[in-house]
Amino acid sequence: EMVEFGRFFNRIIDRFEMSKSQKVRFERYLPKEQYFVEIDPDKLTQVIDNIVSNALKYSPEGGKVRFDMTVEDGFLLIRISDQGMGIPKENVDRIFDRFYRVDRARSRAMGGTGLGLAISKEMINTHGGAIWAESEFGKGTSIFFTLPFEEDDGGEWE
Ligand code: ATP
Ligand code: MG
Repeated sequence: EMVEFGRFFNRIIDRFEMSKSQKVRFERYLPKEQYFVEIDPDKLTQVIDNIVSNALKYSPEGGKVRFDMTVEDGFLLIRISDQGMGIPKENVDRIFDRFYRVDRARSRAMGGTGLGLAISKEMINTHGGAIWAESEFGKGTSIFFTLPFEEDDGGEWE
């Protein structure tokens, strides 16, 4: 299905902003231009839901969650950042493994199964994109993913 990604992304962020219980600020940096992607909207919703719920789960009270959408050579680049506890460097790439959770104490306190990001990775790969994380322990985490977008060729005007 062809979807205008900015509008699609904004609606998901709106849903979280209306329902969240924590005092966490949302900041959005999305382009005004329209970018069309060929996606399965239910699957992409699941991907973004998991990333945003992780960001909220690990955000401190009064923290900020930031949403960025930019364009990098033929791909949309989405970034969702929080100011939470972060992930030790040696574990960052493992968070996309099935059932992997950074530590037991955190897992008990926070609930969940450790499948969310593994499923997200599978879905982003199926859509021709990539997903990765950058994190600084004690400072926060950013999850990035890319999606190829349809070039507007403007054919009839040339
Ligand atoms: P599920 O999504 O299945 O309910 P989960 O959230 O624990 O469970 P994932 O979403 O796959 O599983 O995340 C895997 C692990 O990566 C988490 O348990 C957590 O330890 C770590 N993690 C993910 N996102 C963040 C984040 N924003 N800040 C800190 N740690 C994170
Ligand atoms: Mg999760």
